Parts: sequence; structure tokens; C-alpha cells
Amino acid sequence: MLAVWLVVVLLIAHLGLAKWSGHAEAALPQWLMIAVMAAAVWAVFMRYRRSPALLRVPWLLMGLALAMQVFWAATNVLAATLGDKSGYLAALATVLSSLYVIPCMFMVTRSFAPDETRGVAVLDLLLSCMVAALLYLFFTKLLSGPQASDPTSIYVVIYLADAIDFSLAAMAILRLLGARSFRWRYFYYAASAHLLVNATVAAIYNRIEMHGLPWWAGSLIDIPHALVVLVAVRQPPRWLRAYRPSLAVSQTIASFAPTILTMMVVMLSISTSRVSFVSSLLAGCAAVLFYGLRMAFIQSGHLDRQRAFNRSAWRLEQQVGRDPLTGIANRAMLDTRLREVLEEGCISGNYCSVLMIDIDFFKQYNDSLGHIAGDACLVQVAVALSSSRVRANDLVARYGGEEFAVVLADTTAKLAQDVARRLIAAIERLQIAHPDCPSGYVTVSIGIATQTAQTPMDPVAMLDEADRALYRAKSNGRNRYEPAAVPQYG
Ligand code: GH3
Ligand code: MG
Ligand code: MG
Repeated sequence: MLAVWLVVVLLIAHLGLAKWSGHAEAALPQWLMIAVMAAAVWAVFMRYRRSPALLRVPWLLMGLALAMQVFWAATNVLAATLGDKSGYLAALATVLSSLYVIPCMFMVTRSFAPDETRGVAVLDLLLSCMVAALLYLFFTKLLSGPQASDPTSIYVVIYLADAIDFSLAAMAILRLLGARSFRWRYFYYAASAHLLVNATVAAIYNRIEMHGLPWWAGSLIDIPHALVVLVAVRQPPRWLRAYRPSLAVSQTIASFAPTILTMMVVMLSISTSRVSFVSSLLAGCAAVLFYGLRMAFIQSGHLDRQRAFNRSAWRLEQQVGRDPLTGIANRAMLDTRLREVLEEGCISGNYCSVLMIDIDFFKQYNDSLGHIAGDACLVQVAVALSSSRVRANDLVARYGGEEFAVVLADTTAKLAQDVARRLIAAIERLQIAHPDCPSGYVTVSIGIATQTAQTPMDPVAMLDEADRALYRAKSNGRNRYEPAAVPQYG
């Protein structure tokens, strides 16, 4: 609150001193104007210190823009007090007023997305610098030499300054409407208040200046800076907390904001083409090129993220469908694949088969050698079954416990029996010692079910059929396969 009173005192003192000295550009009232500007820089710096890391950048940019105005005003007062025969101070003032645009541009057009690449930030900085350079070129060419006294040139400069100032204000307001977090809304609220009032005051001041400044005109320039102090130290209005744009609105505005940068460079290139055609043409072309490059960077970032997302989605899908012990497909994947294969078989009229595989005397294996050895045996059997499958699209899955299933698309009962024979042989070849098995090694029994065009089946019926065939294989002596009750030979 003390800051507000201090600024009020400075404003009154400025007005009083201007009245006393009789004209707006006297040195003493101008120093008071600089004091009000410095108070705005201080208020923004305080906000910068209290903000979280990501929000510090925009507050810093705003502070920089305001500091640039302080230096600009101080240079003008020094030029008036000391005299500026060489014109260096006037040139410095023009440079500073052009540089003011860079942080302003940056704070209202940057998306500030944490995942944005450095290349995009560099391009935005280059475009902001181009705006400042073109402005400098325009101001110096039109406001020096024989054109300086021509009212048309001065009006052109005023119109251009208005266009830049009001575009910045409009963009800040748009960002305010598009900010989803309260802290960001608060920042754009402060930026909009300053930029809009600054644009209005500058438009009025410049027009009054054409006809000679009255003594009170300098106080106009205090208004946007005093407003910054007011906004920065007082509690934000209630609507700012209540308002929250939708995600779609917010994203659209944030993605559109950088376009304004290119638009400004193109707009300035067209304006400066009357004073420097070649450099304006080059600047215009560069702006379009940078815009294209910016889009390319963003697109490539999106593609990278999409690829990473697809990879992790694929990995997740694999993990969800895998049996954690053996690493082969689990029951969920078996059901999905079996349903697919049966449906495809029904449509195409092709045979498809399923093998139900069970390790013989596995309970005894566990009892004699322990569950750890039992687990290792399950892994060995699973690996052997998967590496002995016939085609890449045959699915070998762990059905549960010591039971496995193989889904064979486009496979007749006869071909399925060949596969079963091969799998039994593959497990025998492993020669896993089994003390309680008649053969002395781990063996498997297999039941086969086949769907034909005439006997369409759902997955449950198919597995049930294969299970019954497996039961027969067990009763008929184990270490063998049995087809379903009514074999369908293709
Ligand atoms: P059959 O020849 O008739 O198939 O007899 P079996 O002993 O193989 O069949 P049974 O159903 O009686 O026993 C299956 C055993 O498989 C019982 C259980 O301890 C074992 N088992 C099931 N899942 C696992 C597992 O994940 N790890 C281990 N080590 N053993 C398992
Ligand atoms: Mg079993
Ligand atoms: Mg068994």
C-alpha cells in the first residue's frame, strides 16, 4: 500500500512541477516521470521474485521492457539537459525504444511450453530482433534527413507505432483469455493493462506533440507505469480467479500466439520497403522462412513424442499380454487371438486348430524336485514350444499352471497333428530328468480341436473340445496326442 501512496505523491509532484515550470519537457518534471517508471520496474521485480520458476521468465521480460523505457526516458532528459550536438543520445533513444519491443514481443507471443525445443525459442528471438531492427530502420530513415519535417512521414511513424503497440496489447489480452492457470492469467492481466494503456497514451501523446505539448502532457506517460504498480501490489480482481477457459480455447490461443511475430515482421517489412526496399524484402522472406522452420521444428517434436508414445503403448500391450514366469503369451492374449482366428476361419471357410498341452506328472516333478525346479521346467518347456511352432502367426500361450495352448490359423486337423507330433518330440529332446515319470524325462500330452467351415465354434467350445481330447491322451498313456472326438481331416 505504501508503494501506491508513493506513486500517487510522485504523480502529483510531477504534475505540480510541470505546471510550475510551464512546459512538459522541463528536466525536473521529467526526472519525476522516470521515478514513476522506475517504481513500475521495482513492482514487477517484486512479482518476479515471488513467482515460481516457469513464470519468472515472463515477469523478467516485462521488467526488461519497462527498464528499457526508463533508459529511453533518461537518455531523452540527458540529451535535453546536456545538449546532444553529435546526435548520439538521440540515436541511443531510438535504439532503446526499438529494443523495448523485443521483450514485449517475447512475453506475449511465446508459448512458454516446457517441452518446446531450443530451436523454436531461438527462432522466436530472431523474429523479435527483426521487428526491433526494422522499427529502428524505419524510425531513423523517416525521422532524419529532409523527410523529418514532413508531417506525412511523422504520421506514418505514428500509425506504425500505434499498429505495433495495439497489436501487442491485443495479443496480451488474447493470452489473458487463453490462460488456464490463475498465475498466468494474473501475469497477462498485468501485461494487458500496461500494454493497452501504454498504446492509448502513446497514440494520444504523439498526436498532441504534433501541435506542441501542453505542460500536463508529460503526466500522460506516468499513467501506464502507475497502473503497473497498482496491478502488481494490489489483490487481483475476483473475476480473474473465477474465469477459466476451456482446454481447446487455451491450446488454440497458445498455438496461434507465435504467428503474430511473423505477422509483425511482414507488416514492418511492407512499411519499411518505402525507405529500404532490399533489406525489407530480405526481412520479409526471412520471416516466412523462419515461420516455416518453426513449424517444421514443432512438427518434428510432435512426431518424436508420438513415436515414443507408440513405443511405450506397444511395450505396455506386450507386458499386459505376457505370462510373467515364462515370457510367452498369457491367457488374455490367448483368448483374443483364438477369437480372431476362429472369426477369420468362419469368414474365409478355412480350418483352424488349437492344441491343448499339459506336462505329464508335473505334480510329482514338483514334489520330488521342488517348486523352483518346477518353475525352471515350465520356462524350458515354454521356450521349446515357442521355438518349435511352425509359423510366425501361430500363438503359443500359457493357459495356466502346467498347461499350454497353441493357436494355429488356417490349419487342418491333419496338419495340427503334425505340429503336435513335432512339439512332443521337441519336449522329449530337452531331456529334462523326471524321477517319477516312466520315460525318466519330462513329457507332454496334447489334445487337438479343429474348427471346420461346417462346425463353427466359439473359443470356449474349442478349448473345451481340446481339453477333452487331452484327457483322452492322458488316459491312453500320456506322452502322446489325441484329436477331438470326431476328427475333421482337411
Ligand atoms: P497329469 O499327468 O495328469 O497332468 O498330472 P499332473 O501331476 O501334471 O497334474 P496335476 O493337475 O495333478 O498337477 C499339476 C501341478 O502343476 C500342480 C501344481 O503344483 C503344479 N503347478 C501349477 N502351476 C505351477 C507353477 O507356476 N509353478 C510350479 N512349480 N508348479 C505349478
Ligand atoms: Mg494339468
Ligand atoms: Mg499335468
